[in-house]
Amino acid sequence: MKKRVYIAYTGGTIGMKLVHGRYQPVPNFLQTLMAANPAFHHAQLPHYTISQYQPLLDSPNMTPADWSRIARDICDHYDEYDGFIVLHGTDTMAYSASALAFMLEGLGKPVIFTGSQIPLCELRNDAQENLIASLLLAADYAIPEVCLYFHKKLFRGCRVVKVDASGFDAFDSPNYRPLAELGIGVAVNWGAVRPLPDSPPTLHELTSPGEVGALRLYPGMSARILENVLQPPLRGLILQTYGAGNAPDNDPEFLRVLAAATARGVVIVDCTQCLRGTVDLTKYTTGSALAEAGLISGYDMTPEAALTKLAYLLSVHDDVATIKTQMQANLRGELTVS
Ligand code: ASP
Repeated sequence: MKKRVYIAYTGGTIGMKLVHGRYQPVPNFLQTLMAANPAFHHAQLPHYTISQYQPLLDSPNMTPADWSRIARDICDHYDEYDGFIVLHGTDTMAYSASALAFMLEGLGKPVIFTGSQIPLCELRNDAQENLIASLLLAADYAIPEVCLYFHKKLFRGCRVVKVDASGFDAFDSPNYRPLAELGIGVAVNWGAVRPLPDSPPTLHELTSPGEVGALRLYPGMSARILENVLQPPLRGLILQTYGAGNAPDNDPEFLRVLAAATARGVVIVDCTQCLRGTVDLTKYTTGSALAEAGLISGYDMTPEAALTKLAYLLSVHDDVATIKTQMQANLRGELTVS
């Protein structure tokens, strides 16, 4: 029996058309191109259904409400399909893939985000390969994770970052090896894949995603600016620090502002600005000062994973101590526990 794959088409370059000299998503354009292309009718492909979202979005326009819509859509069709593809713009794909990883707890089937740098309508494009490979992976490989496929690699969704605005190799998973690599054959790194859960997935809605934020530290950032960012309604902040998680310890006002916020229950997570490596708040006094101010370590999480994880934890728990413990625990394979 042929496998069945559900495609949630949310928008992105993959299906865009040139209108007055600029790319934009146009309803049904992608489906028309696919219908006319024999590659998408190949006997080895699974049966697939395309569900086109309205409106189709250029992904900078995506909000957490769109993550909920995608997550609900997958849950509503979960039993009827063997795997799922989310066609999505590349700009915010790492955020959406991370969010879905936390929102869909106990996922037992592949959910593969993909898109392209060049639309399918162009002669030279990466859309066809990305979509066909995703269809085969979603149908034939029981990888029970939210993943992201791009340029011959399948990554864990909550480990990816967009690293190139114009190259085909647009995504990387700097702190975790790819789940699969496609060359002449398909090489799945089964040792890197999460185990199959024994019950159906649970959907967790994000109740107040607007109450978390992210701030990139820079030399000379004033305590006033930091204090403004930390005002209500903010309940959680990803602070992107230097190197192994360091920030200035020679500005008492800066540290006081941080300590005052954590004392009133704001969860502040220390993530590094570096692409690779991990936060270690015990390494330097500039890092341990942050731990003393009540910050917790984001270890080797990407800022995208940390932000969406914090929004998820603030939705499912009330107790700040539990949120802090869970934030530093490995929930979906998003951080490396040493
Ligand atoms: N701006 C587009 C988007 O994120 C870029 C892309 O899809 O590659 O929707």
